[in-house]
Amino acid sequence: MPEPTKSKVIIRFCDAYDPERIRHIVREGLEELDLRPFGRTLVKPNLVLSGPMFPHAFTRPEFMEGVLRALKDRADDRVTELAVGERCGITMPTRAAYDGAGYDDVLDRLDVKRYCFEEVPQVEVPYTHPGRLRDYVYTPEPVALADFFVNCPKFKGHPWTTVTFSMKNYIGIQDDRHRLIDHDHKLNEKIADLQYIVQPQFIAIDAIIAGEGRMLTPIPYPMNLVVMGNNQVAFDSVCCAIIGLDARTVDHIRLAHERGFGPIDLDQIQVTGDVPFEEARARHKGFRKGLVRVEKYFEGSKITAYAGPPPREHGSGDYCWGGCPGAIEEAIEILRLFDKECDEKMARLHVVFGAYDGPIDAGPGEKVIFIGDCATWKGEIGGQPVAVESLYRERSTKDPHHAKHDDIYAKMAKVTLELTKRRKDRHIRLGGCPVSVAEHVLALASLGGVKNPYFDQSEIVRFNRSYLAWRGATALKRLMGQPYQKPGPAPRGAAQPKVG
Ligand code: SF4
Repeated sequence: MPEPTKSKVIIRFCDAYDPERIRHIVREGLEELDLRPFGRTLVKPNLVLSGPMFPHAFTRPEFMEGVLRALKDRADDRVTELAVGERCGITMPTRAAYDGAGYDDVLDRLDVKRYCFEEVPQVEVPYTHPGRLRDYVYTPEPVALADFFVNCPKFKGHPWTTVTFSMKNYIGIQDDRHRLIDHDHKLNEKIADLQYIVQPQFIAIDAIIAGEGRMLTPIPYPMNLVVMGNNQVAFDSVCCAIIGLDARTVDHIRLAHERGFGPIDLDQIQVTGDVPFEEARARHKGFRKGLVRVEKYFEGSKITAYAGPPPREHGSGDYCWGGCPGAIEEAIEILRLFDKECDEKMARLHVVFGAYDGPIDAGPGEKVIFIGDCATWKGEIGGQPVAVESLYRERSTKDPHHAKHDDIYAKMAKVTLELTKRRKDRHIRLGGCPVSVAEHVLALASLGGVKNPYFDQSEIVRFNRSYLAWRGATALKRLMGQPYQKPGPAPRGAAQPKVG
């Protein structure tokens, strides 16, 4: 039997977004785990995308309120700061995500500090562990300085990594310029590497209404659970088991386990709570996860997808699970959300990923889009010879020290200009590694002739207001001579594997 305070996961029933009820459940969880916040206490939600159009994509504000109140209940005078920090989905300002998620009011009422991770200094963190993708990465200063780190993810399926629970929520502890590095067929390894930056002392996942299938536009699934824990590998393994998934098939969980961050086998994890584990497993084993190949995803639609392998690297496999193909799956769902006639209106398109060497069945007038730097193909389109060469840059050439921020308006202008220039061409190349969800949205909206969500009236005011505030705040800091990237202190949050 593991020791009572080690690798424990608590499964609690909760069928309403009632902050007081959540507070009570979480306070009991903290008590059972014998945890009290101290020092700089930082809570990391999942606000990848928020607002009324995306009600199930993010950790709900009522959940956050319950967690923050419970932390305050357990706090003593050793807490020097209580804060919430996040970098939402790239290109969107995190200010807009907080606003759309209804967090600003909660944080004001509870007097909790708010960090937008793309607006604070990014500090360098060295990696020294075997098998790392690179020798250093950057993380926002509040993460590096956190003494008591609380992870508050949303329980969802995911197109790139099968599921997104606690470990996957770490993709939001990097700003845009650093997050996109290695966000490709090595994404699971990147997530496993990020575990060395900080480990949470406490985890509480919003599984009251979970999200099936996707991360940005998930299908709501009333799971009626709050799951809590004190070890991230154990926690994710139990969440996997609840939906009938072997945690060893999720590479970032398996890797973190192999590197000593925690137990993956259920007999090594103590599971308690008021919902029997076997009952939870029996009830939710049909939960729809992610990880659907792009060819299959678009079957029956007007888009035909073709996917070849990504660049050959050790352990890269024959499909880029962490990059462009998953991004286009999220993009089409956003377009469907904003344009109810998206599928009927969409022009016939062919999208090609990786080193594809099969036929492309493009009829007269149908466009072919080669997506991502690694796309290659040779053949004829519309009777003309076409040779698409790889633009892929070796991983070792992407240096976090010199990573650049891609402004969303600059990106929109670049994609629009390219599409306009090439509007008569039968084939188009969309460069990038990865090509982001935003770029896929822009390209599909333009080439497919459907509504562009970036011009949607319901979103544009909040987006622009937050964008201007974000750019204004960072410009002011620059004027005041505050460095954006700097060598960091060793993260306080340990970052050392701990078996237990
Ligand atoms: S270009 Fe896209 S598909 Fe190719 S390796 Fe990069 S992320 Fe993957």
